Order: sequence, then structure tokens, then C-alpha cells
Amino acid sequence: MKDKLPLNPGSTLGMMGGGQLGRMFAIEAAYMGYHVTVLEPGAGSPAAEVSLKHIAQPYLSENGLRELAQTTSAVSTEFENVPAKALDALAQEEFVAPPGSAVAIAQDRNEEKHFIETVAKVPVAPHFPIHCAGDIEKAPETLFPGILKTARLGYDGKGQVLVDSREELHKAFVELKEVDCILEKRLALRQEVSVIVARGFDGQTATFPLCENTHRHGILAVTVMPARVPEETSQKTRQFATQIVDALHYVGVLCVEFFVLENGDVVANEMAPRPHNSGHATIDACWSNQFEQQLRCMTGQPLADTTQHSPAVMLNLLGDLWFDAEDNPKVPDWSKVLAVPGAKLHLYGKAQARHARKMGHVTCLGRTLEEALERARDVARILGLPEPK
Ligand code: ADP
Ligand code: MG
Repeated sequence: MKDKLPLNPGSTLGMMGGGQLGRMFAIEAAYMGYHVTVLEPGAGSPAAEVSLKHIAQPYLSENGLRELAQTTSAVSTEFENVPAKALDALAQEEFVAPPGSAVAIAQDRNEEKHFIETVAKVPVAPHFPIHCAGDIEKAPETLFPGILKTARLGYDGKGQVLVDSREELHKAFVELKEVDCILEKRLALRQEVSVIVARGFDGQTATFPLCENTHRHGILAVTVMPARVPEETSQKTRQFATQIVDALHYVGVLCVEFFVLENGDVVANEMAPRPHNSGHATIDACWSNQFEQQLRCMTGQPLADTTQHSPAVMLNLLGDLWFDAEDNPKVPDWSKVLAVPGAKLHLYGKAQARHARKMGHVTCLGRTLEEALERARDVARILGLPEPK
């Protein structure tokens, strides 16, 4: 299917999934004169609202996939758990980026860690697969204290249990319903960072500056860009991310999360085969952004320059902000937020706010990182969020 590339503006592109990542992709595509068709079972999705067409069918529906293939020239995905089978079926008809094989690896933590360590030759945390109760006795003692994670479908810290001993591991495995799991050694983290990397169909690669991430209750809360790490750490992680996309023969945008350990070493934690929440600051802070890069990859166009023009701090806006202390609905004070210089508001058009639901984000730009941080602290105070450090 690569022989049909590049796809020029005016082409219609398919997106599997209708969430906020699909929405930001569709907006970017519209800037460049491409049309977008979204395959998403739910009605009224963030992406469908800003796309040319919405196919309201399940991700594995034959009719839905056929219609998508017939009406689009290339397809990408905006969510990680899209069945790799669906991507493989589409790949018979048109160019699919990223490839289903890479998405399948990212969907399973055991395969992912194994691949990153042995094929891409990038260090990961010490770990051991727990497929069945019998594996518990075989796990090395050195992995305690550890974290037991479900191999599949975990996100935002869900499907994880801290285990200090083998006895606790037994209990945790039962608690996680004895599904496929991975036991990881708990590491002392100095910082969490991520790299957004793009790889074109011709093998060229580009990384965005490093993102420094703070989570709250397992959900990304703040990203500081560029990350406050030594230049050497930044170079090393960008190189590691590039090794991973090369080893995957990847085409598209991939996010790799890394841990910076107390001793300064870096290990890869996990990857997402798509643009990522931690890369949203690229929209306002860089010469190009992660969604534009996704579009360029799937259309076979040259990759964009990833230079950052402004230091930035991104705050995630969760549904909690739409409720007061008594849990009554309220509207956040947008006018005050918009009065902060350099504050760029992004809302995803979700009709219903729920606790912990990602509703939008604010990126605060500054001439210096300290200025961006000050502005982000102002926005946080207005919204009643903890101030970023
Ligand atoms: P999720 O898919 O939920 O993001 P992660 O593997 O990224 O799952 O884990 C969520 C968070 O838990 C990480 O951001 C990190 O703070 C912490 N964590 C995960 N694995 C480890 C580990 N091996 N050692 C220390 N902390 C960890
Ligand atoms: Mg994570």
C-alpha cells in the first residue's frame, strides 16, 4: 500500500476511535486540508464532532471496517486497545499506520518489556511474567518490594497492586482475578519523563523535546516541557525512543514513558502506539505537534521539525473541576483562566463531566520555563488544583 503514498491534502483519512486524541488529530488534519472519517461505536464523540464523517459501528464490525476502508486512503488509531485484528483487516485494503503488529506488542506488558529489552536493547525495570499461580513461586526474591500489574488493559494506574512479599503477591494475583500479569521491581524514581517519537514510512525519525510528568491518583496531572533533566538524560532517552521505533519498524507516532532513577539511570516503562496526553504541549509550544506528525506519517509526507519555540507547562483538566465540594455541578471560571497571559485552553467537547474523566487541558507558555510555571500556578489556583512544582 506504500506505493500510493504520499497522500495529498484533499485525501480522506480514517481514524479508529473517537476520543480527544482523534479530535485533536482531526483539527490538525483540517488545518492542512485533509478530511477525516472516524470509526467509533458511541454517539456524540469528541472526534466525530469535528470530523467529516462518523461511522457508528463497533471496532470489529465487518460493515464498519469495510466502509472505512472504502472511503479513506489511510488509517491510524487514537486508542491503544483497538483490536490489532481490525488494523490487520484494514491493512489488506489500505495503508495502516501504526502497524497492527506494533500495536499488539504495546497491548501486552510482558511482550512490551521483552521487546524493549531484548530487541530494542533499551533497559527496563527488572520483571517476571506471572501467567498462572504456579509462576508465583518462581519469581525472583529480588523483585520485592514490587508491583503486580495486569498484562493487558491497564491504564491510569488501574490494574496494579503493590506487593511487599510473596504472600502479598498471592493475594494480589487473586485480587486481579488471576489474569495474565507482570511483576516488576519497585524502583526509586527521581522523575518520570516521556518522549514522543515519530517514524515515517521511509524510516526517518524525529523526537520532540522531553516531557516531565507528574501523576495524581495514577492519572497524568502536569507535564513540564522541556523536562528539567541534564542534557545527557534528554539525549539518552530520545535515542532510546528512536531505537524502539526502529526495532518495531514502526510508522506513526509513539510515546515512550521512562523512569529516571535516583542514580540518574533511565529505564523504559511502557509505550503507547499513538499520540499521548504528555505530548499535548507540543500543540502550542513546538513548530509542529504530535498530531501533525501522526498525519505526516500516515500520509507518507516528510516529518515536521520538532523544535520547541516556547517553554510550556500543561495542566490536565479532569471532570472533578466540574463539581464543587458538595458534589454539586459547577462551571469552572474560564474567564479568569483565559485572562492569564500565555494560557491556552483546550476542551474536548465532552457533554458529560465525570470524576477523573479527561475533559481538557491548559497549556501555559512563557518566555522562560519559570514564567510558564508561574502562569501554570496561577491557572491551578484559579481552578483549585495543586500548584505545579
Ligand atoms: P499505566 O498504564 O497505568 O500508566 P504504568 O506502568 O505507567 O501504568 O504505572 C503507573 C505509575 O506507577 C507510573 O507512572 C509510576 O509512577 C508507577 N510505577 C509503575 N511501575 C513502577 C515501578 N516498576 N517502580 C516504581 N514505580 C512504578
Ligand atoms: Mg503509564
